[in-house]
Amino acid sequence: MVAKYHIIGGGIAGLTAAKYIKKRDPKAYVIVYDAAEKLGGRCCSYVDKKIGARVDNATHALLRANSEALKIRGKNAKFSQSVFFYDLKKGKLFKKPWRFWREVILALCNTPHCSVSKRVLAKITAKLFPFVRMQQVYFSENDLSEYFIHQLFQYVDEFCGGQVLKEVEHHKFRVNKLVFAKQAVKLGRQDQVIVATDAENARKVFSDLPEVEYSPIINIYFKTSVPLVLPQLKHYIGIAGGTAQWISVSGNIVSATISHAAEQMSRKPDELAREVWRDICQIRGVQPAFMPEYRVLKYPRATLLMTPQNNALRPESCFTKYSNLFLAGDWTMKNWPCSIEAAARSGKRAAKEATSCANHGARGGGEPPRALVSC
Ligand SMILES: Cc1cc2nc3c(=O)[nH]c(=O)nc-3n(C[C@H](O)[C@H](O)[C@H](O)COP(=O)(O)OP(=O)(O)OC[C@H]3O[C@@H](n4cnc5c(N)ncnc54)[C@H](O)[C@@H]3O)c2cc1C
Repeated sequence: MVAKYHIIGGGIAGLTAAKYIKKRDPKAYVIVYDAAEKLGGRCCSYVDKKIGARVDNATHALLRANSEALKIRGKNAKFSQSVFFYDLKKGKLFKKPWRFWREVILALCNTPHCSVSKRVLAKITAKLFPFVRMQQVYFSENDLSEYFIHQLFQYVDEFCGGQVLKEVEHHKFRVNKLVFAKQAVKLGRQDQVIVATDAENARKVFSDLPEVEYSPIINIYFKTSVPLVLPQLKHYIGIAGGTAQWISVSGNIVSATISHAAEQMSRKPDELAREVWRDICQIRGVQPAFMPEYRVLKYPRATLLMTPQNNALRPESCFTKYSNLFLAGDWTMKNWPCSIEAAARSGKRAAKEATSCANHGARGGGEPPRALVSC
């Protein structure tokens, strides 16, 4: 009998789980359910009506060391360059990113460096920042959906959009029914479930999951009449001493990212856009004569805050108290900054356990059910 895999959440984590399920069990039937009508979650591109252009929802960037994420996009990702920083106070571009380690940690963790968990810092140092690899940054050219989501969609047999998981029904620690807002799905004896939603929504279904704290991000997109030229013909620059920490240029779109934007969330979009545009003009050495059309996107729950307390609340593994239900999602990867890399790795981890459970009948070699989380 063909095993069915029900994946709840069609972001990077859920879709990477689909990829590894198919790799481990090519005959498997993979169904992805998402509350939204489209796939991608926090990682997608779309046409923004206000500025009339295709943009990425969040100006994503990857490090060369993000091996699992780069596998999705392919090794030959076009846009890669070394990291340069512009110090607004000194009015100078710096080639060595090390002196801006505070800004780099802020960008990676979306948390001020002084509040970041030591375990997360250790993981960054060991896994993400091997010295020679650090300087390469891949950033999207407003094509996140094409290079990530469409690549992974080939592993999905069926996509059910507009399906919000409300609860699961179980018998003796085995989930036997998924209850969505609009329908209920009965599970077969071999069926496996991967819940790959964000932490907040996972908690709405499983009340024993912890309440975690988030850190917001604001993205601002400017549509210029001609492509902007940044110093040294760079397309991606870190900023020290400004409102935003990163800007990137792709065609006529300039995108700026404000990390850990808690204090900026209540500010008016126009005010924020003007401030960031002024910084961009200073970097380019021109007067801010007029501001182009812009869009401000505020994400109150962009990523988890990477404090020791918050990190400690994250699950130890993908196992749950149900033998056929596994967790995935960037937030489930303890010690990893919430990122595409963490989401992809969590999907791979959940796929491995779900397929062995389907094929061998017992999860991870048959250990007893563990608690949903252990703090
Ligand atoms: C503004 C911003 C900037 C970022 N910048 C970077 C960056 O530069 N580099 C980087 O690596 N990462 C970055 N990230 C983080 C990265 O986007 C995320 O870590 C990653 O996309 C998380 O993927 P995920 O699959 O774990 O979760 P999500 O993408 O959140 O996917 C979860 C899915 O579950 C669905 N869902 C939720 N509840 C239910 C339910 N009850 N029933 C059914 N479906 C449900 C949601 O609709 C969603 O599609 C950024 C994020 C943001 C928001």
